[in-house]
Amino acid sequence: MTQTLYPADEAAEAPAAADLLVREQLEAEARVAELAGELEAMGADLETEVTFDDEDAEGATSSHDRERVVALLASARRHLQDVREALARVDAGTYGVCERCGRPIPRERLEALPTARACVSCLDRNPLRRRS
Ligand SMILES: [Zn+2]
Repeated sequence: MTQTLYPADEAAEAPAAADLLVREQLEAEARVAELAGELEAMGADLETEVTFDDEDAEGATSSHDRERVVALLASARRHLQDVREALARVDAGTYGVCERCGRPIPRERLEALPTARACVSCLDRNPLRRRS
């Protein structure tokens, strides 16, 4: 759409990534808000459900669900943080550069994972951070 504005190859990439990340950030914010709301509703539910007199397994189910939402919320927050940091790197002009080896991260990797901060070969050298 606006690619003619950025004739240089490298310049063309950053705005596209920024667009993607801004959209991602909105989605991540919405997801965090949604999960936080869900958790709040569940928290309220749990407090009114402390009695375990009947055999109703609902109490156990909700606390299980609650754990699941807590985990989802944590990962949504982490993702939002990643997206924000990626946007900060776009601003700083360091987006798409591997933070370990300083080489450019391949475009396909950034398309698959816009928040990537290291290239695959650097991640492979650190099993702790290996993902997907
Ligand atoms: Zn690297």
